[in-house]
Amino acid sequence: MTKEKNIITNFIDGILFLDEKEELVLVNKKAEKFLNTSKKNILGKNLEELKKTGPLKEMLTNFSKKEVTINGKTIEASFINKKGLLIILRDITKEKMVKQMRNEFVSIVAHQLRTPISSIKWTLKMFLEESFGKINKEQEKYLEKVYTVNEKMVELINDLLNISRIEEGRYVYKPTATNLASLIEENIKQFKEKAKEKEINISFKKEGSCLEAVVDPEKIKLVLQNLIDNAIKYNDKGGSILIKLTSDKKNLTVSVKDTGLGIPKEQQKKIFSKFFRAKNVMKSDSEGSGLGLYINKEIIKAHKGKIWFQSVENKGTTFFFSLPLAKK
Ligand code: ADP
Repeated sequence: MTKEKNIITNFIDGILFLDEKEELVLVNKKAEKFLNTSKKNILGKNLEELKKTGPLKEMLTNFSKKEVTINGKTIEASFINKKGLLIILRDITKEKMVKQMRNEFVSIVAHQLRTPISSIKWTLKMFLEESFGKINKEQEKYLEKVYTVNEKMVELINDLLNISRIEEGRYVYKPTATNLASLIEENIKQFKEKAKEKEINISFKKEGSCLEAVVDPEKIKLVLQNLIDNAIKYNDKGGSILIKLTSDKKNLTVSVKDTGLGIPKEQQKKIFSKFFRAKNVMKSDSEGSGLGLYINKEIIKAHKGKIWFQSVENKGTTFFFSLPLAKK
């Protein structure tokens, strides 16, 4: 046995190879084990035959289906299509279990924290509304501060709960024909005060004949809130924000452009990852959890849309998202 063959035979991942004639010419030991078969049952068969029956059916019928469950094990398949088809099988059962346990932990903690945090909120509100008697300016100032910090915790817990819903497939979408222009206008109103505090001007332009799409308005509102909030938070004092809504035959596109900090080029790849915050914003006095864009990406993906951005550090950032138009 050659050195290479020995390595392939005993490799820790499952390996299968279909040659240029689409005939299965190689199956290593691990692949036999993962697929719960013996190579004599499958070796020499061609792609069409393998697609019809047997353990490879599910994987080969739908190349995009990367995970299959065989004998209680979760196997991840990767495909490399180069002078034949190389299939690499990896046992990800443990990885999946750890991920699930982590998600469950986050979900339990977030649920447990929700009630005490909201009772703090309502008690503070009653103090501020002087339901327990008059408060002086100094007391009001500190109560306002605690109230703001508490609001941030409420937001963080909501983000964590949304993430665990998304990851467990429990994030329910209620699509309905929605006018995006009105949704954007409502959102801008909500951010008026916040923008004014930083002397930021928000303008809105709409172009195109159809500005309606079938979406879940609550979820798209969340996406817009995250983008506008970021455009204010990571903008300079006196900066500006331009929101545009355009449409072509197939899609509606929204862009949110700011004149702020920008995203460092070398970190742009990670921007939609969970908990990621770029180093330039960590140095600024902004606060955040790095969860908003991850949630945005998942929401837009569920609407079969796209989300992307362009950014130059110290010049500004434009986030875009597009959504398929409502079919007439
Ligand atoms: P958060 O704002 O809570 O940190 P997000 O998921 O909304 O979390 O954003 C992740 C990171 O992406 C931010 O921490 C920041 O580094 C970067 N980012 C997002 N939007 C902008 C923007 N408009 N300008 C500059 N950086 C941004």
